[in-house]
Amino acid sequence: MVNRKQDDVVIVGGGIAGMISANRAAQLGLKVTVLEKGTAQKYLCNTRITGGSFHICHRDIMHDEAILKQAILDSTAGFVPEEFAALIAKDGRRVVRWLQDEGLKFMRASGSEHHRWVLSPPGRSKPGIDWEGRAGDVLLRTLEQQLTRRGSAIVRGAHADALITDGARCTGVLATIAGQQKEFRARAVIITDGGFQGNPEMVGRYISKYPERIKQRGAGTGHGDGLRMAQAIGAATTSLDAFYGHVLSRDSLTNDLLWPYPMLDAIVTAGIIVNAHGERFVDEGRGGVFVANAIARLDDPLSAACIFDRDIWEQPGARELVPPNPNLPEVGGTLFQAEDLAALAAQAGLPAAALCATVDTYNSAIKQGVTSSLPLTPERRTQRYQPMMIAKPPFYAIPAVAGITYTMGGIAININTQVVRADASIIDGLFAAGIAAGGLEGGPQIGYVAGLARCGVTALRAAEHIAEQLGST
Ligand SMILES: Cc1cc2nc3c(=O)[nH]c(=O)nc-3n(C[C@H](O)[C@H](O)[C@H](O)COP(=O)(O)OP(=O)(O)OC[C@H]3O[C@@H](n4cnc5c(N)ncnc54)[C@H](O)[C@@H]3O)c2cc1C
Repeated sequence: MVNRKQDDVVIVGGGIAGMISANRAAQLGLKVTVLEKGTAQKYLCNTRITGGSFHICHRDIMHDEAILKQAILDSTAGFVPEEFAALIAKDGRRVVRWLQDEGLKFMRASGSEHHRWVLSPPGRSKPGIDWEGRAGDVLLRTLEQQLTRRGSAIVRGAHADALITDGARCTGVLATIAGQQKEFRARAVIITDGGFQGNPEMVGRYISKYPERIKQRGAGTGHGDGLRMAQAIGAATTSLDAFYGHVLSRDSLTNDLLWPYPMLDAIVTAGIIVNAHGERFVDEGRGGVFVANAIARLDDPLSAACIFDRDIWEQPGARELVPPNPNLPEVGGTLFQAEDLAALAAQAGLPAAALCATVDTYNSAIKQGVTSSLPLTPERRTQRYQPMMIAKPPFYAIPAVAGITYTMGGIAININTQVVRADASIIDGLFAAGIAAGGLEGGPQIGYVAGLARCGVTALRAAEHIAEQLGST
């Protein structure tokens, strides 16, 4: 065992949350070490491959604070406490301004409100992954240069294994570097290891019986180490069963040109998605994130198929930055196509009579008139996504898979990002930020807020609170 001199702050994970916390703490005069398990110069993580859009609930992050706060409360049906919603609404814009001061550039990537503040240069609008020299890659490289300039450092190849405590206080991290265990002592520790989506055992325990039947729609580097380490010294967790992700072509399991884009959300929310019995199983009107969670929870997550018609394929199916039409068939994704539904069912391996009945019932409900929801089981909401008839041939089916980007639940924190126990008491010296911290998204509605905004806000807060505690502001 090798012991190191004590830092002010040790941070577990060098994604956006870790690197913002590190730089803000260093800016405030603290000595920081970031432990990053990745060994490559451009180690992969969700931040490295992010789309880079800073928004809050798909609203402009610079929008009126009260409106943004309400959007968070509405999206999560009150699961996110008001004080957290208010903090994200207030400080989201500060994250963008702070990053600009660090030298990062933003641009408008499309006419959509949530594309107003996108890291420049953004990924190119093409299928598959495209990160080198783009949004998150530029962000991480810039923040690392700044950290070095400020006299602090990131240690690559340092896998954090456990937290060190001195009685009730967290006083450091045990990490393995090149097979050797080392102690990193600190006056405060921040966990920013990015969630547990890349840990099949934990995904199996909390999210889906079949983690191997879910597509990693991200770097897959979040293994829940931070959660496990914090729990081991008494931390509470928030509900762990929801994730942020999208509906993808099932072929993305084997074809890297089919993730993270094109996504099938726009098709699913205009048409229907059915299970192996040819029946609807989820309210498609709740959006792609909700549908992806429902697919993951199916008895067989590899049994879902999107069903739609020509109008859906040619309108919502062709509208996004990297739409499935024409990208999906062009890069080899399966698109079944037939002049009638029975023939489509035969191609897609679905029971024809059941599929025809499901589509008939759905079309009849639309014909009765679209109010706030269609009289269907499961219910179909209509306020956010307009349901379209499945009536005009050719009819289409795409075998789907749930794509998981990050887990929404995590380590329980208070408003200062201090890690708390089940009785809300604070674990002194221990903080969590970014996706590792729970309670900022999710809940029964699987409410989406936004990864980057949530990471940036909690990361600034952690650094500033530590500096205040240590008398360094
Ligand atoms: C394709 C894609 C597109 C996205 N687009 C957007 C978007 O446009 N807008 C938006 O708001 N969000 C977006 N997101 C989500 C957003 O990028 C993430 O929420 C965010 O980057 C997560 O940051 P983080 O710092 O919490 O975690 P990460 O970036 O995952 O970083 C965590 C780091 O911790 C390290 N680590 C893990 N375990 C250990 C350990 N035991 N010891 C040491 N290090 C460890 C990992 O290697 C990793 O480097 C997107 C994500 C993806 C994948």
